Amino acid sequence: MKDYAIISYAYNKTIRIYVASSTNLVEEARRIHNTWPTATAALGRFLTVSAMMGLMYKNEEKLTLRIKGDGPIGMMLVEANSKGEVRGEIQNPNVYLKYEEGPKKGKLNVGGAVGNGFLHVTKDLLMKDYFTSSSELQTGEIGDDFTYYFALSEQIPSSVGVGVLVNIDQTVLASGGYILQVMPECREETIGEVERIIQTIPPMSTLIQEGKTPEEILTILAQGTEQILRKSDISYTCNCSKDGFIKSLSALDEDTLHEIIHEDEKAEIECHFCGKKYLFSKEELEKIQVNRKLK
Ligand SMILES: [Zn+2]
Repeated sequence: MKDYAIISYAYNKTIRIYVASSTNLVEEARRIHNTWPTATAALGRFLTVSAMMGLMYKNEEKLTLRIKGDGPIGMMLVEANSKGEVRGEIQNPNVYLKYEEGPKKGKLNVGGAVGNGFLHVTKDLLMKDYFTSSSELQTGEIGDDFTYYFALSEQIPSSVGVGVLVNIDQTVLASGGYILQVMPECREETIGEVERIIQTIPPMSTLIQEGKTPEEILTILAQGTEQILRKSDISYTCNCSKDGFIKSLSALDEDTLHEIIHEDEKAEIECHFCGKKYLFSKEELEKIQVNRKLK
């Protein structure tokens, strides 16, 4: 099944719901970054919520999201756009941490792997300045952290559910998520009803693993009141290009560029998001050096 998200109104347009299935894109992230299970779950949850969030924007607007925790994973960064494209990176992909006790015993301990810290969201809305808002991580489990972010930074009471299941061979078995946003005119009884549903609904990754589509999950959340607005593919997509890296090389200071040309005589640059390698010959580097002097 291809990854996609649906955006819908529900409960007489007083609640907006996003639901995504993201198994393929999370598996793609795992393959690129070689993440171990807990890191796969953390980055996968982060990518899934970010992909849905990207769909809240339009045209060329984009988002850069950072989770900086003090756990073994370190920092994670995700870029998302309005086309449902996401790409990300993770400081330490080699994290496999499980809950040792309690009701979650044996499950992946994403909260412990992320730790305490902050979620930072930077919006590029094609204006002169970027807008960054930050909120403290609540549990490091990602869903809770975004729920808190929406309430605090965007003043939208929300509920975010997201989950990733990893196979024994460490590939991704199932991944999905939802974002539910309460509009100001929503009635108290509706909020109460939705809260009851959220408390009893199985984890998102379980629903996806059982073969439920985003539409079917939406029906559970909306109790049949849904009015789907649109459906959008979501994917792990890196738009890196040689031209992009020419710009980065042009931005180096003269001494550094001189050193690369005369000592290394070539440059190999690897994209942090997709692992693609770009090779620059001495001649190409000299051309970059000359061209930027002409500017
Ligand atoms: Zn790339």
